[in-house]
Amino acid sequence: MPAITNHLPTAELQALDAAHHMHPFSANAELAEKGTRIITRAKGVYLHDSEGNKILDAMAGLWCVNIGYGRDELADAAARQMRELPYYNTFFMTSHAPVIALAAKIAELAPGDLNHVFFAGSGSEANDTNIRMVRTYWATKGKPTKSIIISRKNAYHGSSVGSGSLGGMAPMHAQGGLPIPDILHINEPNWWAEGGDMDRDAFGLARAQELEQAILEQGEDRVAAFIAEPIQGAGGVIIPPDTYWPEIQRICDKYEILLIADEVICGFGRTGNWFGSQTLDIKPHIMTIAKGLSSGYQPIGGSVVCDEVAEVIGSGEFNHGYTYSGHPVACAVALENLRILEEENVIGHVQNVAAPALHEMWHGLSDHPLVGETTIVGMMGSLALTPNKGSRAKFDMEPGTAGFMCRERCFANNLVMRHVYDRMVISPPLVVTPEDIKELGKRARTALDECYAQMKDQNLI
Ligand SMILES: *Cc1c(COP(=O)(O)O)cnc(C)c1O
Repeated sequence: MPAITNHLPTAELQALDAAHHMHPFSANAELAEKGTRIITRAKGVYLHDSEGNKILDAMAGLWCVNIGYGRDELADAAARQMRELPYYNTFFMTSHAPVIALAAKIAELAPGDLNHVFFAGSGSEANDTNIRMVRTYWATKGKPTKSIIISRKNAYHGSSVGSGSLGGMAPMHAQGGLPIPDILHINEPNWWAEGGDMDRDAFGLARAQELEQAILEQGEDRVAAFIAEPIQGAGGVIIPPDTYWPEIQRICDKYEILLIADEVICGFGRTGNWFGSQTLDIKPHIMTIAKGLSSGYQPIGGSVVCDEVAEVIGSGEFNHGYTYSGHPVACAVALENLRILEEENVIGHVQNVAAPALHEMWHGLSDHPLVGETTIVGMMGSLALTPNKGSRAKFDMEPGTAGFMCRERCFANNLVMRHVYDRMVISPPLVVTPEDIKELGKRARTALDECYAQMKDQNLI
């Protein structure tokens, strides 16, 4: 089937892109020189580009296209809603059916008493909401000094000033004056990179106990909340040791601080349950959601809030909101996405078919000479590239060089797999079939082989 023909030739698109489009998280001069790949359409787990290539998307876009590409039902839901009520706001005593239905649906799916939703247009916005919400919560309860939010190095919580401050990405903090005051970062539970001689479990416990040390150092009367992704996504799919979350939960329960689980990636089936908090047995007061909520078909995010916090926030006026909070078209599309996830039992498919096949394929790559470890939970996994399998050794190159080389070989083999420094990460659409997974594994191995050969050629290992 030919690619869509009503666009300009690739070279012209690339030239216009280079001239006028500033890309996020990219060195634009370098992009302009190489020419961007122009994606024209997508179906299932495959993307098509303007040159007629069919590319297997093992990242589900940016971790978000959980139901796969090309579902007409979502397009129809958007068109219907646009005709009926394309926009209205939810400020000042008004509401509309799609936002009400979606809030109720999320409350039904969310664990425990997470029964209230504050909507945003993205994960970043939702985490900005969370900063203001937890501080307002404590101020309303007469404890305005409780304003510090503890997060983790190498966490990702978004790219706005607030959410980028919550995140622990050093290259982001280096630009634009981040972090804002009263955000503190403890170390991440990344055993592969930082575990030294400790065994996984002891290391997980030690890293969790840094939270307790930080609370004691600052004083309980200063700390508002702890925020973390159940499993770090953009940080490289860092799966914490089994000892980590139970200890974090114990500490959060012991001291009077709120726990925010950033479920932007983990939510909506990614870890094999509706929420990562269920998979990892976490009991948050607030969950951040976005990405898989609409499978990326519309920009929407939100904060899912427990009864007590919602009650306190609701007791006064919360001077906060976005023009597009609870946008009716985004809500209608998200609702349709959740309907499909539920009625087609996509999470059952993950548990019984997709995750077992993906895990087998992924761990099968561990015999490759470049692969140090393979880790995976549900439908998010990573592997560490290493020049020496036995020793968790690092390359004798700038961190990220090996990962970048490997990603280039993936791209050349029509596979989208991302690298985070020297970890390769996958997060395919949840609807991926065993045949797709076989193909994914084939292309990944070819890319690893080519990368290995290239490194040998260039005397890099
Ligand atoms: C992507 C992401 C965000 C930010 O979401 P945006 O929609 O890009 O603003 C926040 N938290 C986590 C865990 C994410 O992966």
